[in-house]
Amino acid sequence: MAKRSKKESVIPDSPTAVFESSSDKLLNAIQKYWGYNSFRPLQQSAMLAAMESRDSLTVLPTGGGKSLCYQAPAVCRDGLAIVVSPLIALMKDQVDSLTACGIPAAFINSTLSVDERKLVADRIRNGELKLLFAAPERLVQNRTIDFLETCNVSFIAIDEAHCISNWGHDFRPEYRQMGILRSAFPNASIHAFTATATQRVREDIVLQLGLKEAEVLVGNFDRPNLFYRVERRHDALSQIKAVIDRHPNESGVVYCISRASVEETANSLKSLGYKALAYHAGMDGEQRKTHQDAFIDDKIDIIVATVAFGMGIDKSNVRYVVHAEMPRSIEAYQQESGRAGRDGLEAECCLIYSGRDTNTWEFLINQSENDDNRQASLTALSKMEAFCGSAICRHQQLVRHFGQQLEKDNCGACDVCLDEFDKVQDPLIVAQKILSSVYRQEQRFGAEYTAQVLRGSKNKKILFNKHDKLSTYGLLKNEADRVVRGWIDQLLAQGFLKRHGEHSVLVITEEGAALLKGNASVILTRPKSSSAAVSLEDKWEGVHRELFEELRQMRMKISTERNVPPYVIFGDMTLRELARYRPTTMATLTKVYGIGQQKKDEFGKQLIQLIKQYSAENDLQTNLQAAPAKPAPPSRPRPVAQISVATGRIFELFDEGLSLDEVALQTERAISTVTSYLEKYVVARRIDSATQWVSARNIKLVEQTIAEVGRERLKPIYDALEQSVSYEDIRVIIACLVNRELG
Ligand code: ADP
Ligand code: ZN
Repeated sequence: MAKRSKKESVIPDSPTAVFESSSDKLLNAIQKYWGYNSFRPLQQSAMLAAMESRDSLTVLPTGGGKSLCYQAPAVCRDGLAIVVSPLIALMKDQVDSLTACGIPAAFINSTLSVDERKLVADRIRNGELKLLFAAPERLVQNRTIDFLETCNVSFIAIDEAHCISNWGHDFRPEYRQMGILRSAFPNASIHAFTATATQRVREDIVLQLGLKEAEVLVGNFDRPNLFYRVERRHDALSQIKAVIDRHPNESGVVYCISRASVEETANSLKSLGYKALAYHAGMDGEQRKTHQDAFIDDKIDIIVATVAFGMGIDKSNVRYVVHAEMPRSIEAYQQESGRAGRDGLEAECCLIYSGRDTNTWEFLINQSENDDNRQASLTALSKMEAFCGSAICRHQQLVRHFGQQLEKDNCGACDVCLDEFDKVQDPLIVAQKILSSVYRQEQRFGAEYTAQVLRGSKNKKILFNKHDKLSTYGLLKNEADRVVRGWIDQLLAQGFLKRHGEHSVLVITEEGAALLKGNASVILTRPKSSSAAVSLEDKWEGVHRELFEELRQMRMKISTERNVPPYVIFGDMTLRELARYRPTTMATLTKVYGIGQQKKDEFGKQLIQLIKQYSAENDLQTNLQAAPAKPAPPSRPRPVAQISVATGRIFELFDEGLSLDEVALQTERAISTVTSYLEKYVVARRIDSATQWVSARNIKLVEQTIAEVGRERLKPIYDALEQSVSYEDIRVIIACLVNRELG
């Protein structure tokens, strides 16, 4: 490398050896225990931080796979990993899931009896446990800390870490006490996880937990398996029904704003014969839990709920989330809709809204929040409204909200990109008709009234006000009410109109005045008449549906016997693969997604028997070309939108073209630290040539050696070159090579 003495350039073998073997260990563990083939984006980096005891903060969206980021290293490392989790129900689920995979785990919280607690303590003392889940308030007690200090704690993971920040949406004062963990466990690294993405919350987490030189990993916020659709509400119940009917026998959540509408919607659905139950904070605790469990255990299909439902629900097979009313912010929408499709399979998110929802929220916000929060909440609300009324790709809008950018022009998974709308041919004229009616009505009436005037209604109030004499009366008489209301919403969302006062009368903004004069432009859309089909990649391809149902029944039976949720036994993806490939031997069975050692041993025979019998009776082929044998992932997966606070400055200096020595000097870091960032930099910036840092001769040597010995392991390359090229150089060269291949 440029400007480095020979002595510095030869980094001792061990760090790389640790890196290599840690990655291998992790990959083996996720195959053996979970039956997974590869890491999801950022998982490997997050896991390596835990393997190598570097404090970290990992931000991944719901369903991104945060749990595995601490579970896998916990299994691979000596000692006990502690996981802090805010919700008792979630702890139990995680422990059940881990136990089902053959991993010794336990929790301590207030639900345990004295004897049970003793038993857990014994298992810890005997070094039996790999993971211990604890509530924050329990963990910070002196006697817990004193006890755990003697127990070889490998690292501490903090789930839902945004609860520590009062900038977040779910501040929990008991999380604040965890500031003492950093000094109470000086030898254990701390790893925080959250799905809340704002910069401010991120910084606050690092600060409050006292993380040292934290590696901050921020994942891609797009959820490509979710199909987003936004509809104006015209007939709520039939719109909700349409979504449910696209997913027969599958699990879904329907969100409403108020308890009353939850009750009403749940009752209507029940009376139509759907298996639905209500959930809101007004119900007593026991009933709430019964309903929640019935949903989690697949005993009912639909839960109709307020936002009180969801936090801490890990159910992986939610196939749709309907918002029967508009959520209060894009963050809330992202969280709530994000509860669909955690298993990575396709799922539908349908938002049904109307201008009235904005009024409801405004009312609630004005009632309940202090002046500081009120303005922020109203701003968030107006962004949500703009989201609904806009004709920009939904995926794009969501990731932009979190400071990211979708690289595709057409996401293929939202109503906008799939052209479920027709653009109005002459939007300016239509908009002018609407605005001028608002103007002629002296800006004293709401959206519903305005639409009626434009559609030429004989409503008494209109006749009384003599608005049937206005020149705008009946100008849009050939359009359906919901279309006209939709246009008014779009004008509101695009800022040409605004609502004013208690009665939400429509008022023309400055932009609206410009539009009236023809000095601005506008886009208006109307829903296509036949927009129903969800066209996500069909992950049902080749799946024998009836066999899938049989397998589902079997899963239900096992889960009932064991008193755990069905998805703890197998996820839907696993059942689909079983019903697709129909393995009847242990060897083909292990190729199926989600079947690790333990599950093969425990359920293999039953599965094979069922599949054999069913296939024989129905004359189905078995052992079809199963999923490809679990391949090793590329030397390092390409990280998606990976940013690190500590790394940021170093990257900037690399960007400016500074040499390694100069970067080390400017950042006051050891040259070895800076060089370890170079590989990340090369990966992040997709640089495909290392000439800036490594001599052309060394590049050539390394590339020739790779052609002979491969690049899966670094040591053979290092040795073949008689240790004349440093590990860092080799890694940088490989990273460039990978980038070149990825193009
Ligand atoms: P999060 O906590 O980030 O919302 P989870 O940890 O619940 O996400 O993971 C979501 C789903 O993805 C779970 O069903 C989990 O088992 C699965 N999953 C996680 N990592 C992987 C992986 N590397 N390969 C396959 N499935 C994974
Ligand atoms: Zn789109």
